[in-house]
Amino acid sequence: MICNDRETLRVMVEEANKLTKHGKVADYIPALKTADRDALSIAVYEEGTCASAGDIQEKFTLQSISKVLSLALALMDNGEEEVFSRVGMEPTGDPFNSIIKLETHSPSKPLNPMINAGALSVTSMIHGGSVEERLGRLLTFIHELTGNPSISYNEEVAKSEYETADLNRALVYFMKQHGVINENSETLLELYTKQCAIEVNCEDLAKIGYVIANEGLHAESQRPVIPLHIARILKTFMVTCGMYNASGEFAIRVGIPAKSGVSGGIMASVPHRVGIGIYGPALDEKGNSVAGMQLLEVLSQRYDLSIF
Ligand code: GLN
Repeated sequence: MICNDRETLRVMVEEANKLTKHGKVADYIPALKTADRDALSIAVYEEGTCASAGDIQEKFTLQSISKVLSLALALMDNGEEEVFSRVGMEPTGDPFNSIIKLETHSPSKPLNPMINAGALSVTSMIHGGSVEERLGRLLTFIHELTGNPSISYNEEVAKSEYETADLNRALVYFMKQHGVINENSETLLELYTKQCAIEVNCEDLAKIGYVIANEGLHAESQRPVIPLHIARILKTFMVTCGMYNASGEFAIRVGIPAKSGVSGGIMASVPHRVGIGIYGPALDEKGNSVAGMQLLEVLSQRYDLSIF
């Protein structure tokens, strides 16, 4: 078990930390600019125990990791048929915020739920009468998954992204024109940016990763919180699209279903075994945590975690 080997985890973090100088903190969302480039922490959750290294109290926003959770909720709300009529199942090979395939593909529904266009379409399917109610339902779901009822969203990060999200606005307008999205653009952008600004720490992330790894059963109570078939869909998208246009290389090097976000978070789910949460805000050019990916690669090798 990884959790019996805390010293190894500490050494791995220390080694991977040397890579942060090769990365850059995301700055296209102004409020993310102030993150400490050299931070690196990890929490590993397995069979009711948790091991960690680095400053795991540090909070960060989910950003694209939230796409996995909004997809789970949208699937529970609407069923597979409805959801996949408005978002596809195929990887793109393009950056997460690209617009190009919306125009070149017919019909112009986004290719998958892990790119921004797809996630915007998915978020528009979360049920509820207002932004507050829909965000509240997502937060309640996350409270259930983590057992941490204090999780909320960071208002400053949400506002900062909302005010600068012109590319995401463009994606929404394009999809509205093509009938993929049917709601008010600003309402959707408000919900999406608040969803992306939900704030967690590594331990919360490791617990969510564990539920997804554990067929949707709660980490402590073993109660079903995500239906089995949905947990499988989430893991599959994490493998094929979770690390944006680096998903293929990541599958070969690491072989663990994972989802990253531009705040520097990575959530990973080793089926039936482990949930992992990482925070390392220094990103590579594709928007993935440089040190976080290295950490997952050495962990995967040492504990034979690849699913392939
Ligand atoms: N909120 C971010 C955006 O829409 C999420 C992107 C990401 O983490 N890759 O641009």
